[in-house]
Amino acid sequence: MRFDGRRENELRKVTITKDYLAYAEGSVLIEMGNTKVICSASIEDRVPPFLKGKGTGWITAEYGMLPRSTQTRKIRESSRGKVDGRTQEIQRLIGRALRSVINLEDLGERTVWIDCDVIQADGGTRTASITGAFIALAQGLYKLYESKQIKSFPVKNYVAAISVGVVEGTPVLDLCYEEDSKAKVDMNVIMTDQKEFVEVQGTGEEAPFSRQELNKLLELAEKGNMELIKMQKEALGAIDELIGKANEEEI
Ligand code: UDP
Repeated sequence: MRFDGRRENELRKVTITKDYLAYAEGSVLIEMGNTKVICSASIEDRVPPFLKGKGTGWITAEYGMLPRSTQTRKIRESSRGKVDGRTQEIQRLIGRALRSVINLEDLGERTVWIDCDVIQADGGTRTASITGAFIALAQGLYKLYESKQIKSFPVKNYVAAISVGVVEGTPVLDLCYEEDSKAKVDMNVIMTDQKEFVEVQGTGEEAPFSRQELNKLLELAEKGNMELIKMQKEALGAIDELIGKANEEEI
């Protein structure tokens, strides 16, 4: 049993609230235990200069934490005037994860801005951001598809992310802050519904880990990610039928 009563392979309670914001093309509030992130997708009818005239779209992400999302107040990045390294790393990770499952050509010359705003942080905010942002993105793209602005639904696969780690010698799934701060191995695993890896980021800075531990961690991550993808499917309802369809048409 873990600090919060969970089994080693158990996720925290996950709650997904769709259409959380009134104005964004897609939005959700995702809660994983005490971690809460608002994710939105906003569509803009132009692409960054490096893609102009290439007939392809772009997806980019921004990530932020509210000052009182953390246990002690964290100064707003905007008042410090620059984005710190952790934030940059997280926003790039979210962008890469989402782009990996989207056919950017089907998007046309459009940019989807993903905003992930952490309102409460208790570990795993980047992974919750990816899992929630995927739903907001699919909803936003559906609006384009439904209004016939794009002819093919660009979502090829589901993508979700979860953290795993070795805490007090035991590999565990979905670390809360208490566990994260004690973890000797810390890993974020991003996967598709095909059980393929999009990104695996693991660090054994305090205690290098064995192949056996790595295998166990990946097994836990696969279980967690497949449960999350099931919840994404439920949240998306009828949109699920369109996901992966463009793939089939191409073949
Ligand atoms: N955290 C914090 N202040 C910070 C950064 C992180 O309190 O400036 C806490 C927060 O609970 C976060 C956890 O530490 O979820 C783990 O942070 P990490 O950088 O590993 O990212 P995350 O696990 O949230 O993706």
